[in-house]
Amino acid sequence: MTMVNGFTATDAEHLSQEERGLIARRDQTLGPAYRLFYERPLHIVKGEGVWLYDADGKRYLDAYNNVASIGHCNPHVVNAICEQVKVLNTHTRYLHEGILNYADKLLATFPSYLNHVMFTCTGSEANDLALRIAKQYTGGTGVIVTELAYHGITDLVSAVSPSLGAGVELGTFVRKVRAPDAYRLGVENVARVFVEDVRAAIDDMRANGIKPAAILFDGIFASDGVLSDPAGFAKDAITLAKQEGLLYIADEVQSGFGRTGSHLWGFQRHGVEPDIVTMGKPMGNGQPIAAAVMRSDVVEEFGRTARYFNTFGGNPVSCAAANAVLDVIQNEGLLRNCASVGAYLKAGIEELAKRYEVIGDVRGAGLFLGVELVSDRSTKTPDADATRQVVNGLRERGVLISSAGPMENILKVRPQLIFQRAQADIFIETLDSVLGDLK
Ligand code: PMP
Repeated sequence: MTMVNGFTATDAEHLSQEERGLIARRDQTLGPAYRLFYERPLHIVKGEGVWLYDADGKRYLDAYNNVASIGHCNPHVVNAICEQVKVLNTHTRYLHEGILNYADKLLATFPSYLNHVMFTCTGSEANDLALRIAKQYTGGTGVIVTELAYHGITDLVSAVSPSLGAGVELGTFVRKVRAPDAYRLGVENVARVFVEDVRAAIDDMRANGIKPAAILFDGIFASDGVLSDPAGFAKDAITLAKQEGLLYIADEVQSGFGRTGSHLWGFQRHGVEPDIVTMGKPMGNGQPIAAAVMRSDVVEEFGRTARYFNTFGGNPVSCAAANAVLDVIQNEGLLRNCASVGAYLKAGIEELAKRYEVIGDVRGAGLFLGVELVSDRSTKTPDADATRQVVNGLRERGVLISSAGPMENILKVRPQLIFQRAQADIFIETLDSVLGDLK
C-alpha cells in the first residue's frame, strides 16, 4: 500500500550508496509496513527551532511539524525534561504534584464543564479510550467519521480511520459522511451537506440495528484535505448528533494547542461543545504524552467498572515537558504569532495563486494551510503529479512540507507555531521558484 508523499523503491536510483544502505537496513530490521517521506528520503541528524539538519550539514526549513510545534529542541522543554528525569520518573499510581499541576493547567484551558483528564502516550490511545468511554456511556457502538478520516492505529481506531486504505477494514459499526469541502461543495452548502449526511448516517445505523455512540471529528479535517471554512460549519451537524444521543468526540491531535490561531482548541472555531476532547502530537513537543479530557459524568460508570492505568501515560517527565509546552505557548504569545504569521503566509500563497493557474484553492486556519493543485481551474481537476513535483521540489531546495487529500493533490503546509515572517518569506520565494519550474 502506497502513501501520499511516500518513497517507493523505484525512486532508489536517485540515492547515494550510503542512503541505499540505510534503506536496506531499515527494510531488514523494521519490516515492510514502514514508509519514508519524499522521493529522496531525508537523513536528519539534528534539529533546532524551525530548522532541521541532514547528515551532510544541509539545513531545511521545517514547514511540516505539528509535534515539535514550539521548535525543535526547545530549551524550556529540554530543561524541564532534564530536571525531572534527574529526580524521578514513575507513573500515575503514586501521588505526584507535577502530574496534578499539569492536569489543572491543562483543564483550565477548556470550558469548565470539561473537568477530567486521563493521560495516554499517543493520540491513538486517547481516541481508543474516548471511544470505549462513549460506548459504555451510551450503550451504543455506532461511530460517525468523515470519509477520509484518520484517528490512529489501534484495532478500534484504525476501524474508524478510512484514510488507512482499502487494506484496513472499516468497522461495520462505522458510517462515513462526506468531507466538509467548501471548494468542491460550495462554501454556502458545507454546513447543510454536513447535517444531511450526519442525519442519514444516524438513520442508517438505526435501520441496521446499530445504536449510535459517537461522532468523531478532527478539528481541522487534516487527512480529508485541511478543511477549515467557513468557521462554524460543523455546529449544526454536531448539535444534531448530540440531540440524537451521540457523544461528540473532538479529535484535537492536529488542531489542538493553538494550531488554528484563533483559539487554543480547533473545536472552539466551530462554536461547539465536545463531550470528550482528545489530544497528542504537540502536547509534549516530542516527549510522548497525549490525553482525553471529558465531562465527569461520561466517565463515571467507566471509572466504577473499569480500572484505568497506562504505564507511561502522564508520567512525571512527560508532564514536565507538557507543562513547559503550555507555558511557552501562553507566555510567548504563540497563539497570536500563529494567527498573524499564518495569515501572512496564506496571503503570500494567495498572491502566488494570481500567477500560477495550478493553485486552485488556498485554505486553512492559523499555521495549518492546505493548497489544492488542479490541472484545470474550471473543472477543478486534481493534479497529483504537480503536487508530487512541488513537495519534492521544495524538499530539494530545503523546505519541508507534505501532501494530503483523497486525490493526493493538496499541499499540506504546517509550520511550527514559532514561525516568523522572514521564514514565511523563504517559504513563499521557494514555492514561487518551484512552481515556476513545474513541468
Ligand atoms: N488523530 C489525528 C487527527 C491524527 O492526525 C493522528 C496522528 N497523525 C492521530 C489521531 C494518532 O496519533 P498518534 O500517532 O499519536 O497515535
